[in-house]
Amino acid sequence: MVIISIFVAVLFAITSFTNPIRPSHSLIVDVEYLVDTNKQYSITSILSTSNNIWQQHSQDSNTLDMFNKLLWFRFTLDSLDPKQPRLLEIDNALLDRVNLWFVRGNEILNEYQIGDSLPFSQRVIEHESFLSPVPTKSQEIVVYVSTLSKGLNRLPLNIWQQQDYLKFTSKSNLIAGVFFGLMLTMGFISLFFFVTTRNATFLVYAGYVMFLALTLAALQGLGYRYIWPNSTWLQQNAIGIFAHLTVWFSIIFCDLLLNVRVYSVKFSKLLNVIAYAFLINLVISLFIPLPLFFNIFLIMLCTSSIFIFNVSVRLWIKGSLIARYYTLALAILFISACVISVDTLNVIDLNLSSNYTLMLNMSVETILLGLILGISHHQQRQVYLDTQAELLNKERQAQHNQIDMLALQENTTEELEYKVQERTLELEIALRELSETNRELQEKNTIDALTGIRNRSYFNKKYQAEVRKSRRERTQLSVVMIDIDHFKSVNDQYGHLIGDECIKAVARTFKNALKRPSDNVCRYGGEEFVLILPSTDLKGALILVEQLRVKIEKTNIHTDDVTINITISAGIGTAIADITQPEDNILALADKQLYAAKNAGRNNVQGSHIDFIQQQD
Ligand code: GH3
Ligand code: MG
Ligand code: MG
Repeated sequence: MVIISIFVAVLFAITSFTNPIRPSHSLIVDVEYLVDTNKQYSITSILSTSNNIWQQHSQDSNTLDMFNKLLWFRFTLDSLDPKQPRLLEIDNALLDRVNLWFVRGNEILNEYQIGDSLPFSQRVIEHESFLSPVPTKSQEIVVYVSTLSKGLNRLPLNIWQQQDYLKFTSKSNLIAGVFFGLMLTMGFISLFFFVTTRNATFLVYAGYVMFLALTLAALQGLGYRYIWPNSTWLQQNAIGIFAHLTVWFSIIFCDLLLNVRVYSVKFSKLLNVIAYAFLINLVISLFIPLPLFFNIFLIMLCTSSIFIFNVSVRLWIKGSLIARYYTLALAILFISACVISVDTLNVIDLNLSSNYTLMLNMSVETILLGLILGISHHQQRQVYLDTQAELLNKERQAQHNQIDMLALQENTTEELEYKVQERTLELEIALRELSETNRELQEKNTIDALTGIRNRSYFNKKYQAEVRKSRRERTQLSVVMIDIDHFKSVNDQYGHLIGDECIKAVARTFKNALKRPSDNVCRYGGEEFVLILPSTDLKGALILVEQLRVKIEKTNIHTDDVTINITISAGIGTAIADITQPEDNILALADKQLYAAKNAGRNNVQGSHIDFIQQQD
């Protein structure tokens, strides 16, 4: 704020020293006028008419209603020094059309047509103000002026020594140059900022500055002179268009700068409505008379300014720092607007020239708004950087957490893997134990409980396997069915327990007698046994079984002080198994042979061989 205050003070100081004040003696005071309501006069009729149609006009009060009326003015220039060329200036750049006649006696010396409804190149002196050379005659000259204007009702007439005007105009051009230079610089800087930051507020600010400069250029006639010299249409409407666009931009700028939407959506919407109302009024202004437009524009400007000020103060109260600065800038603008009005109304005489005060005002305002925009941008950037730093921190934290999580996961996985391995090992051991038990159980299932040799179910499987093997390998298979003779009577005589002992003894004898690992003895049931003798022909089987029979016959079985002698009968079936025959063929043959042995008187061995090939033949 200190910097801004110093800046404003310096600007005021500079302008108060450089303000090119028009010398008061240049103003023509003694002017007469005539309202030509019916547009009946021409210069010749005016010249020939008596003087009493003219009325005295005070240039200071400026209250003449000139709108769309033909008005005549006349004033006298005293005898002039021919060596000092003079200029007549009409200090209102917005007049539509003015005719000038320099008359001596009744003779028209020179006749000029000026006004901004004519192309700029048609001006007698190409200058932003309306200037015309005054004929250098030593006699008194009367100047007649006729105006027909839709524009403003001011006709300030000045007479200048050419030298004075040169001095004045060079100084005022310097000030205008500084002003427009400043505006252009601010505009371009802001545009560059927009390009680099993509922050729309900069663009809107640039628009505001550019159109403000254009409005002032139009007001001073500089726009017509330098920018649109060939467009009379634009010159007629320039102020309306540019002033509206300036206000539109400034309201949008206020909305964006103060970030009104964040504080109140309602206010933001209202601001936009007002801004667009100005755009609509822009279009209307093209079709309505200038004075009416000025009145409407001023009323709208005042109301919207009050509203914006109100919004700004509210936002300040809500704690927006930018709103505080903006309110102060607006306050400065309002105060200076009041000072200008007071000066214009001649309440106090500050001797300000309205154009320069306006330029000074606008420069101060533009610079202040630019500064606020800078501060706001800095603030937003700071917030952005802070947020980014915070985000970065959070991200880092998240990364740390993730690393921790990963480590934890890794540990857990390792632990889990270890446990799984442990469990798998335990399971494997249990399975092995189970299969061992199972094997033992299976083994047990194949053992006959009484004798300890293989049982009937083992025999069934083994027999089947050996038959298939014989079929495959084309080897002789012998199966022997053995039955203890008259065992019923043993049981009857000695009891079942001793009978059991006999069965055990026979089994033991068979088991011990078999030498080949492939040979098997099984208890077929009761006191019946069966031998499986793979790769054994009938002859071999007969020898082996005969030896067994003899061994049993000679064996004395001792139990409970009793010695028992028993005999056995055996039947042998031998064959090379064949696919065409039923599997139990050999067993059936053995059984048949057993019965044959029984029938042959018992205690003997019978055998038979099946030759399947022969049978097939
Ligand atoms: P043979 O065979 O000479 O015609 O006369 P056998 O008296 O031996 O007649 P058979 O073979 O029909 O008799 C079987 C008898 O064997 C019947 C039963 O009392 C006896 N026996 C069967 N199984 C067992 C057993 O496990 N223990 C005992 N003690 N006796 C059994
Ligand atoms: Mg039997
Ligand atoms: Mg028997």
